[in-house]
Amino acid sequence: SSSSSAGSEAAAAAEATAAAAVAPRTGKRPVMVAQTAPAVRVTIAEAFGMEPGSISTGHMVAALRKLGFDYVFDTNFSADLTIMEEATELLGRVKSGGPFPMFTSCCPGWINMVEKTYPELIPNLSSCKSPQQMLGAVVKSHFAASVGRHPSEVKFVSVMPCVAKKDEAARKEMHNEDLGGPDVDYVLTTRELASLIERARPRINFASLKEAEFDSPLGQSSGAALLFGVTGGVMEAALRTAVAVTAPADAPPMPKLDFTEVRGLDGVKEANIDVNGTELKVAIAHGGVHLRSLVEDILAGKRTYHFVEMMACRGGCIGGAGNPKDSVDEKLLQHRAQAIYKGDEASAIRMSHENKEIAQLYEQFFGEPNSHKAHKLLHTHYTPRKVHKSGEIDRFSEYSPEGP
Ligand code: SF4
Repeated sequence: SSSSSAGSEAAAAAEATAAAAVAPRTGKRPVMVAQTAPAVRVTIAEAFGMEPGSISTGHMVAALRKLGFDYVFDTNFSADLTIMEEATELLGRVKSGGPFPMFTSCCPGWINMVEKTYPELIPNLSSCKSPQQMLGAVVKSHFAASVGRHPSEVKFVSVMPCVAKKDEAARKEMHNEDLGGPDVDYVLTTRELASLIERARPRINFASLKEAEFDSPLGQSSGAALLFGVTGGVMEAALRTAVAVTAPADAPPMPKLDFTEVRGLDGVKEANIDVNGTELKVAIAHGGVHLRSLVEDILAGKRTYHFVEMMACRGGCIGGAGNPKDSVDEKLLQHRAQAIYKGDEASAIRMSHENKEIAQLYEQFFGEPNSHKAHKLLHTHYTPRKVHKSGEIDRFSEYSPEGP
């Protein structure tokens, strides 16, 4: 129809504008692009002798540039994108009656546990890819096109507080043949990045680097996105947006941004949240032992919820095994968590849907949250896995409750 051709012309014009806005910085060699997870900026300074709880975003970005990355993007940007997709999915399930509880899906440690041990919960997992993978899909599609390169000529490297993110990036579900390969090519832990920076001394001296900023677009983020680094943070970020977008048009601005009931280091937390007249029952668990006990209670019908956040590491990603120091120390975790909450408070925008670069990405590329294109690039599916007696995991086999 003429309206759809007008629509596609508008989309082509928007693509052309995006292409003009981002000038290619490299010749024939691959374009090297990095992303850094929320927790990395909060813990990397510990590797260089600084106090736990220092936020060193500017130094971290500068170090990545000096190591040779052409572009440095922020996983916090795609944490905002995750909230747009996941809050829409949650509100959709509230409308259609389930399945409940909906579980978050950004922690591969938790996803592995479901696929191996609780495959009956697969329909309850959010279909959203994690922020690491969402940014990969955007970089290999929209960004690659905007710098005039084939996706296979863009190498995308993540820096994560997490060892399980390496396995997540290697999943076959995270390879897109149309885009010439994986969303994310390589994953470094925070500790591995710190050791690369250390090896580049004296050319790179982390503490005295001139601070740099993330590239834009794909670099702006909200305080809510930073919260992804700490237990309860994905929940809080999702609740902020869910409450704000369902408010009546004449409602005053959000009376409360801090959902303190979902914060803190208790193993399992729960709360009832009023989302403009709909009561949502939510829970948060972190650390393997608490994930298991909460799941067992849910399966036994002892607890019921609408939305549950699950993080395999104690404290969430600030407690991940890829961080510079041993993360089991309670004081250390508290310092890191405080840094996250301070960073959120200091942010110019504190809700994911207020991120202008996110709005622009929907306008130019995805259309709207949960659109067909968004589903193709930003969502995934899960596969039951069989664990053999030897302990070896048969990732792609049919699940058999009796075992092999
Ligand atoms: Fe990785 Fe741990 Fe964060 Fe899960 S909670 S994403 S395993 S660092």
